[in-house]
Amino acid sequence: MSFTDLNLDPQLLKAITDCGYTEPTPIQAQAIPQALEGKDLIASAQTGTGKTAGFMLPALHKLATLKKGPKGSPRVLVLTPTRELASQVTDATRTYGKYLRVRSAVILGGTPYRDQFRALSQPLDLVVATPGRLIDHMDRGSIDLSRLEILVLDEADRMLDMGFKEDVERITKAAPADRQTLLFTATMDKTMADLAGRLLKDPVRIDIVGKKNTGEHIEQRLHVADNLHHKNKLLEHLVSDDELTQAIIFSATKRDADSLARDLSAKGHRAAALHGDMPQGARNRTLRDLRRGRIRLLVATDVAARGIDVAGISHVINFDLPKFAEDYVHRIGRTGRAGASGTAISFASRNDLTALQRIQRYIGKELPQHVVEGLEPAYKLDVRSSNRRPGSKNGQYRKGPGGGNGKPGYKGNGNSRYAGQKTSGTRSPRREPIIEYRSSSR
Ligand code: AMP
Repeated sequence: MSFTDLNLDPQLLKAITDCGYTEPTPIQAQAIPQALEGKDLIASAQTGTGKTAGFMLPALHKLATLKKGPKGSPRVLVLTPTRELASQVTDATRTYGKYLRVRSAVILGGTPYRDQFRALSQPLDLVVATPGRLIDHMDRGSIDLSRLEILVLDEADRMLDMGFKEDVERITKAAPADRQTLLFTATMDKTMADLAGRLLKDPVRIDIVGKKNTGEHIEQRLHVADNLHHKNKLLEHLVSDDELTQAIIFSATKRDADSLARDLSAKGHRAAALHGDMPQGARNRTLRDLRRGRIRLLVATDVAARGIDVAGISHVINFDLPKFAEDYVHRIGRTGRAGASGTAISFASRNDLTALQRIQRYIGKELPQHVVEGLEPAYKLDVRSSNRRPGSKNGQYRKGPGGGNGKPGYKGNGNSRYAGQKTSGTRSPRREPIIEYRSSSR
C-alpha cells in the first residue's frame, strides 16, 4: 500500500513526501482508512509504530476543509499523558500540517497560563493537551469543547496509570456525543476495556499486538550486578565505549536520576537528568540539547523519557529495572528509532530476579547475560527458577565480591548458556508491578 491509496488531502501527501516516508506503517494502513470513514477506533499500538501519524493524518485531513470556528473552540483535541508526548504530538502537527492553515494550541501543565489564554482567545482548529491543565481551562471557561469533532486519547493506558481517569471522563462528557473518538493504548486490560466501552461508539478494533515492537532490531542484553558499586563500574565501562553515540540511562527515582547525572558530569561526561520535578523550561532545554547532541548521557525516569524520539540514541541502559514489564519495551524503544539499530542493556541484581522474569515473560524471550572481563558478578542469575536461594552452589559464578578487579576488558560475547532459551509462561498484556523500590540506594 502507498500513501496515495489512502485518499488523503494532497497537501498532507506533500508533507509526507517531505518526511521521506515511502509507505504507511501497519498501524497507519489500518487506522487511517477507518478514521477517514468517521469510525471510532481502539488501537493497540506502541510508540515507534508510527501511531502519531495514524491519528494525526486523518485529523488534519478533516481540518483541511477549513471551517473558521469560534474562539477557543477546537475541532480536534488530542489528549496525552505527559508534556513530552504532547510536545511531540505538536511537532507532528506542524510537520504533517505544514502546507495546511491549521491553527493549533498546546495546553500543558507546568507552563505559563498567559500564552495559553492568548492561544485560546483565538479561533482554533486543534488542541493538544495534558488532562490536568485542560480541566483547569474548562473550569475557567477558557476552552469550549462543544464543537469537538475528533477526540484522540493517546497512550490512554498511561493516562489511567497516572490517575487521569476521572479527568478523561470529564473531558469526554464536555464533548458532543456524536464526536469521533480514536483511542490508542499499548495495553488492553479490563479497566481500559471498561473505559473504551463507555467512551467509544461501536469501535473498530485494531490490534497490531502480533507485530508488537518488542525490539527485534534492538540488541538486548543483561549485565548481572552485585551491588550499586558494581553497577557504577559497569556503567563507567559502557559509557567509555566510542560506539555509544548517545544514551538514555533509566533510574528508579527522580533523586537517583539527579545524583547519577551529577556523578557522570563530575567524571567529565556530557550528562544531564530529565524528570518530572524539573520545571518545564529546563525539561525542554534538556531535550533540545539532547537532540542537538550537546548531551550524550541522559539520565531519566520513565514518565519523563516516554515518547522521546531522538535519532541519535544508540543505547538505552536500564541502570534500574522498570517497575512495570511493559515500561521495559517503552524504554528500549527510545533507541533503534525509525528502523536504525540500537542496543539496550539492563543491569539486574539478585533482588531483581522476579522483575527480570516478568520482563522476559512479557517480551517472550530471555535476555542474554553478558559479562565484562574484570567486572564479573559474584553470581550468575539463573532466570529460569525463582526459588533458588541466592548464592546456592549452582548459581555461583565465581567467588569474590562484586565489582571485580576494576579492570574491564572486553564486552560480553553473548554466548551465555542461558541465551536464547525460552521462558515458560505466556506474554501477559496485564500491567504487572514488578518491583517496589524502597528508599533510594544512592
Ligand atoms: P510514533 O510511533 O508515532 O512515535 O512514530 C515513530 C517514528 O516513526 C517517528 O520518528 C516518525 O517520524 C516515524 N514514522 C511515522 N510514520 C512513518 C512512515 N510511514 N514511514 C517511516 N517512518 C515513519
